[in-house]
Amino acid sequence: MNGELDFDDILYFPEEIVTEKIANDILVISVTTANWIVLKNKIQLSLLNKLREGWMIGQVVEEIESEEEMASFKSLLAAIFARKFAGVGVLPTKEYLEGYKMLNIYITNACNLRCKHCFMRSGTKLKSELSLENWIGILSNFKVSGGENVTFSGGEPLMFKGFANILKHAHDIGLKVTVLSNGLLWTENMIEELAPFIDEIQFSIDGVNERTNAVVRGEGNFDVVVETVVKFSNLGVKTSVSTTFTYENLEDDTDVRYKELVVAVRRRTSNEVFFKLSKKLLPGRNVNISSEENEKYSKRIKGIESFVDKNADYENFIAGHSPNLIAKNCGLGGMSINSDGSVYFCNRIYEVESYGNVLEHPISYFMEKGKEIHEETSVDNVEPCSGCFLRYICDGGCRIDDFDFSGKLKNTVKPYRQITCTDEKKHKLMKRMIDSFDYFYDFDS
Ligand code: SF4
Ligand code: SF4
Repeated sequence: MNGELDFDDILYFPEEIVTEKIANDILVISVTTANWIVLKNKIQLSLLNKLREGWMIGQVVEEIESEEEMASFKSLLAAIFARKFAGVGVLPTKEYLEGYKMLNIYITNACNLRCKHCFMRSGTKLKSELSLENWIGILSNFKVSGGENVTFSGGEPLMFKGFANILKHAHDIGLKVTVLSNGLLWTENMIEELAPFIDEIQFSIDGVNERTNAVVRGEGNFDVVVETVVKFSNLGVKTSVSTTFTYENLEDDTDVRYKELVVAVRRRTSNEVFFKLSKKLLPGRNVNISSEENEKYSKRIKGIESFVDKNADYENFIAGHSPNLIAKNCGLGGMSINSDGSVYFCNRIYEVESYGNVLEHPISYFMEKGKEIHEETSVDNVEPCSGCFLRYICDGGCRIDDFDFSGKLKNTVKPYRQITCTDEKKHKLMKRMIDSFDYFYDFDS
């Protein structure tokens, strides 16, 4: 039968399971474990129902009358095990995405560039930026209070004097360290010295060549960043390139040129470099576009993404939806600390409220507050998401862009409401679940 199964085994399924017929597929969703499988025919559905009723594997097999039915049963079991949709004699184990264990630090507002779209409007160091000693203490307290990941950005983090010491400290106390940088200030020596202390690094390249990158990030910078990307990647640090195109540098052939950039960089490294495209233009120094314009922008960028890799969307979707991993919130509740110590619970700090300064209260106080906000605005506690069978897969969307409180809770009356969801969006999400599943798993060959 199946290598891991005996005939007297019984599969345990989570209680709340919803089925949706979409075109020729049957999407089977386990609501409380944020998981799903896709069935290809009614035979599989009836076999699944027997398993859910508590039939032993052997009992189901005994009732099977044709080869076709047996093949359907085998691929059903393969789907169940691939997605850990049920357990043998035990229920599948749930895990939760806990955003409040992540810390985002804007270590300085100083930057060597003045990018047109910068949502932090970075450039000049703030008058009251925290010191090296402050940050060392904050990181230690964060770790002791259960923190796991820290991301440093700015401004440009390398503009902060003593950044190397902070990085090393974060790594040495066991935090997973991510750095977001413009990639222009890294010398060969610095790269070699600091690479061992960095788990992930992301560089910004906002064009497809020197000319288009210069429109946003200034002249003479493109080749420098590309070299830095290649060096970090070859040293084994997980490296990615993040690109935000603007209407000023999107051109008719941007898709072709962007693909050339991706190929050229990948050719020069022995490790994988990840390429990410921003699909939304956030309000920034020179940007303030309407949600309709952002929809158009997003469509255009998705077109570029699929030109480079037609399966990128499916890969990202499956990678972001591990089986039985519950996402109750978009990430609101995760702490962001600005360079002056002010604390926010979303990284778009100019659009949300500050909950005080890290010098006024211990980190554990802010982590508790973050946890409260995460729960208070979770899909369990907002309308209409609390009654939606897709809630732990969907997470409800951005609490700034898609909710009536626009990311600000202090004067908002409950219940909080999601205001952009439509039947069409729900249908699109289910279609993505099916297509990603079909792309990723093949149980018939
Ligand atoms: S946004 Fe829509 S699909 Fe998502 S959880 Fe809320 S109601 Fe469901
Ligand atoms: S509110 Fe929006 S920007 Fe803030 S964490 Fe959620 S998705 Fe991200």
